[in-house]
Amino acid sequence: MKNLFKNSIYAFAFGDAYGENPHFPYIWTDDTSLTLSLIDAFSKSKGIYLFKKNLYKNIKDYFEKGKFSPYKIPFKYGKTTYKSIKRKKGLKSEFSCGNGSAMRALPLGFLLFKKSLLRRSRYNHVQSAITHAHLRVLVGCDIYVEFAQSLIKYKDKNTALKDLRKKMDILTNFYGKNYFSYFKEYEDIFKPDFYKKAPPKSSAFIVDTIKCIFYSVFNAKDIFTCLKISSKFKGDPDTICAMSMGLYGILEVFPKVYFKKLKSYHLIEKTLNLIRL
Ligand SMILES: [Mg+2]
Repeated sequence: MKNLFKNSIYAFAFGDAYGENPHFPYIWTDDTSLTLSLIDAFSKSKGIYLFKKNLYKNIKDYFEKGKFSPYKIPFKYGKTTYKSIKRKKGLKSEFSCGNGSAMRALPLGFLLFKKSLLRRSRYNHVQSAITHAHLRVLVGCDIYVEFAQSLIKYKDKNTALKDLRKKMDILTNFYGKNYFSYFKEYEDIFKPDFYKKAPPKSSAFIVDTIKCIFYSVFNAKDIFTCLKISSKFKGDPDTICAMSMGLYGILEVFPKVYFKKLKSYHLIEKTLNLIRL
């Protein structure tokens, strides 16, 4: 499990750097920094309350001190993440439905792999709501993390997709009507036709991002075609590429030689080693 975790997060970081700049693909951005900040917070926290507190602090330190950043300065960030940390309150408006909290959520699929679906979802909502508190985003975070958890379990894309559908039905029953209405916005990902059509619209809007990630993963033949397909989404390529590669890194080994080329490789390695799996 530990090796799989590392492979997935390194593939994520590589996707982040490659999506940001395919010609010099080794400098990762906020996606990886904030993912590391979540791993660090989790490793230091007993219970959900401390996890939330430590994650808030880590994100704040990312902005103020460049913590978890390859150059010790914050390298790119989303407006919602920045504003919410400043105001100490997650934003809830229709204009705050970006992918900023989903981009750091992947580790939860590993860290809470054996916990119940509802427990994982609770953690996921808490981590998201620090910056992105709109229910549409919480649903998107559930879809992403639960798909990752199913991939870890089944190591097969199609089986994982069926499993995701079942889990989303359980969550819908649990959270109710509003949750279901936002879940509907993502439903294309369960339709086989969606994957045969031209690539979906790409942007940092959470629903667009999730659709692009699924499109990339299901149209890829291997981890390198996943990198190629996902990096072509012009609207937010670093995040779409990172989040797609993080998932594909659960299915396939990504050669270690690439990890080691990443800027501040040791910062990633050190953070990943905080976790025992
Ligand atoms: Mg980024």
